[in-house]
Amino acid sequence: MSFLSRKTRIRHKSRITTENKMKTIYFDNNATTKVADEVFEEIKPYFCELYGNPSSMHTFGGQVGIKIRESREKVATLLGCDPSEIIFTGCGTESDNTAIKGTLSAYPNKTKVITSRVEHPAVLQVCRDLENKGYTVVEIGVDKKGRLDLTELAKQIDDNTAILTIMYANNETGVIFPIDKIAELATGKGVVFHTDAVQAVGKIPMNLSKSNIDLLSISGHKLHAPKGIGVLYIKKGTRLSPYMVGGHQEAGKRAGTENVPGIIGLGRACELATKKIKEENEKVKYLRDKLENEILKRCPDSMLNGDKDNRLPNTSNISFEFIEGEAILLMLDKYGICASSGSACTSGSLEPSHVLRAMGVPFTAAHGSIRFSLSRYNTEEEVDYTIEKMPEIVNRLRELSPFVAR
Ligand code: PLP
Repeated sequence: MSFLSRKTRIRHKSRITTENKMKTIYFDNNATTKVADEVFEEIKPYFCELYGNPSSMHTFGGQVGIKIRESREKVATLLGCDPSEIIFTGCGTESDNTAIKGTLSAYPNKTKVITSRVEHPAVLQVCRDLENKGYTVVEIGVDKKGRLDLTELAKQIDDNTAILTIMYANNETGVIFPIDKIAELATGKGVVFHTDAVQAVGKIPMNLSKSNIDLLSISGHKLHAPKGIGVLYIKKGTRLSPYMVGGHQEAGKRAGTENVPGIIGLGRACELATKKIKEENEKVKYLRDKLENEILKRCPDSMLNGDKDNRLPNTSNISFEFIEGEAILLMLDKYGICASSGSACTSGSLEPSHVLRAMGVPFTAAHGSIRFSLSRYNTEEEVDYTIEKMPEIVNRLRELSPFVAR
């Protein structure tokens, strides 16, 4: 139960609304990102001027088709693959659903799916639904640092396994899995390998032409493109039944009139990421490390969740003992700082995140976890301001906490 009463929380919220004129400090980039100015400029004409349907025979629609082709090439360049291996979807969730369900339809005699316990619900929920329908689903566990149990994974792959679906990097802790090694393992045993790379693309350089990954999911709004656009990479030769059927779009692999501004925006966002992936991620990592190190130093009884050395450069997940993540978020919000918590408020009680639970993070720490996720748009000034406010927030909440011995 939250120790801030519902009334107090509402009071906090209304105060936040009136104080909202302050500048927002956005450290919630794993939830969604700002659309890059360059992306916004590029997509503007495709709403009211160049609104043709790319499938139309006339030139007005055809010129849009050309832009879609260019975008496909830009996405392929970032991923290091052939443009024909890219299909546009509606979001990361759709890409994940297509990969898993499309593989199972293509291999009707195989009924086993292997995944991890720390996947995003876009994969985990699909797998649990499949389990209810009679499929065998195995969820591989992780250790204290969020690292996957590869020995167990290898043991589980058998002749009945249709697909192995393991995320590239975790959205809550940023922990990166050894995806190329896992893909090799799957391919060696004739199993399709899918990875949810929604948090990894744009942060980790990739060359899919040299990897054994068969299917890979992307979401536009995690890399400064608009919401409502995703990609599924399908390696040439991979058997996959379409999930969305209807029209002939996307070479018959994903029906539905294309989200033209979304596709063009994602192409531009991938082009920007290709150009700046190294320098931008170095800057983001410097800011993330400064924020994290100072908070850990200045706030007693705080600890990092996840493998410190093998993480996305932008993500930091910190637990603060004896206080609740939700209360920290509300106080951060008061200062205009946006972050997210590892707890989800369900039916009046706070449930610690499934990722932290799988890692065995103690109850008192899992409840007080906060995720800071940065982007190229964050500044050192924002980091310094947050470093200054964080100990004040933690100390105030600990004064109220019934879990702190006094
Ligand atoms: N997979 C991961 C790892 C994510 O973090 C998210 C979104 O947070 C998704 C999938 C879902 O992507 P979308 O919001 O585009 O459906």
